[in-house]
Amino acid sequence: MTDMTAIRSLHDLSFSALERELERGGVRPIHARALWASMYRGAAREAWLPPLRQWMERVAPEQFIPEAPEVTADTESSDGLTRKFLLRLRDGQEVESVLMGYEGRYTACLSTQAGCAMGCRFCATGQMGFVRHLRPGEIVAQVLHCRQALGDRGHLRNLVMMGMGEPLHNYDAVMEALGIITDTRGLNIGPGRITVSTVGVVPGILRMAEERRPYNLAVSLHGASEEERAALIPVSRKWPLADVIAACRTYGKATGRRIFFGWTLIAGVNDSEAQAERLAALLQGIDAHVNLIPLNPTTGFEGEEAPVSAALGFQRVLATAGIPSTVRQRRGIDVAAGCGQLKSEKQRARGRGDV
Ligand code: SAH
Ligand code: SF4
Repeated sequence: MTDMTAIRSLHDLSFSALERELERGGVRPIHARALWASMYRGAAREAWLPPLRQWMERVAPEQFIPEAPEVTADTESSDGLTRKFLLRLRDGQEVESVLMGYEGRYTACLSTQAGCAMGCRFCATGQMGFVRHLRPGEIVAQVLHCRQALGDRGHLRNLVMMGMGEPLHNYDAVMEALGIITDTRGLNIGPGRITVSTVGVVPGILRMAEERRPYNLAVSLHGASEEERAALIPVSRKWPLADVIAACRTYGKATGRRIFFGWTLIAGVNDSEAQAERLAALLQGIDAHVNLIPLNPTTGFEGEEAPVSAALGFQRVLATAGIPSTVRQRRGIDVAAGCGQLKSEKQRARGRGDV
């Protein structure tokens, strides 16, 4: 049986890969520009010259399957700040993309895998398990969908790889997708407006440093001792906290970039001032910014959101140690805008026969 997920789409191709494909089909590579202008800049197809038109009619349909995910859910939070989409890929897998923003400026949160192999206890995606990696085109298509859904309501400024999946477990496809997304001839989103978030896949962090990838790096910590972290993040047995921090130091030195650390605050688990002090000690000497995220409750995990007073206390300790931090708003809880939550809710509803 043909593996439908292995067949590429035009959105999997970088600009130079598209040039090569055109050349292989006997079309001069110069035509790549007009095709990309239509794919990524909304340019009219009427501008295509005959060789490109013929290639698109005769050659492309035989080699590339269109990347056209179907929207199976589109929900907006009551405050209007968060809109969440469930996109159905061609093999029936569904992934989430979230648009967040106001005053015309929006951030899209993209998925990089269907499910996730890392198994973090508090995460709805982790609770689902791993299904498969996304192809570059399936990541690019999420940006196109978000931009189209925004229409003239606003500008898509920032991208965060914080949807379903672990980006550095799907390194090559994610980097290829980001190459396409940042290409100035196409979508042209600035690399400095893109954040790759990882649970701490050490080889991936080191590779980003070595390859001087120009994106922001966010590292999800959630625990400042090996035991506490391992209780929430099973893969920290493979990549211990000490190795994650060492990789961050290497990354910081190699790139000169600030690193964002994610810390999901769970009441009575990792929200004490003593833990904040340990975190501050761990981060000494790193140009760090900590994002404190209140836990979004999931059915597969008993923990609760930390009280605001604990979040503020945590932040105070970090500030005293000279580490800047932000308490993130828990936006869109009524659209289940936590990682993987819309999909798992839909699956439950289907199980009950509601959908
Ligand atoms: N796999 C990557 C990126 C996707 S998860 C990573 O783990 O960093 C993006 C962020 O959402 C992570 O910081 C993760 O810890 C956080 N997250 C996952 N489930 C959550 C929940 N139930 N409540 C709050 N934050 C959650
Ligand atoms: Fe995967 Fe990130 Fe969820 Fe952990 S928090 S299971 S790494 S998506």
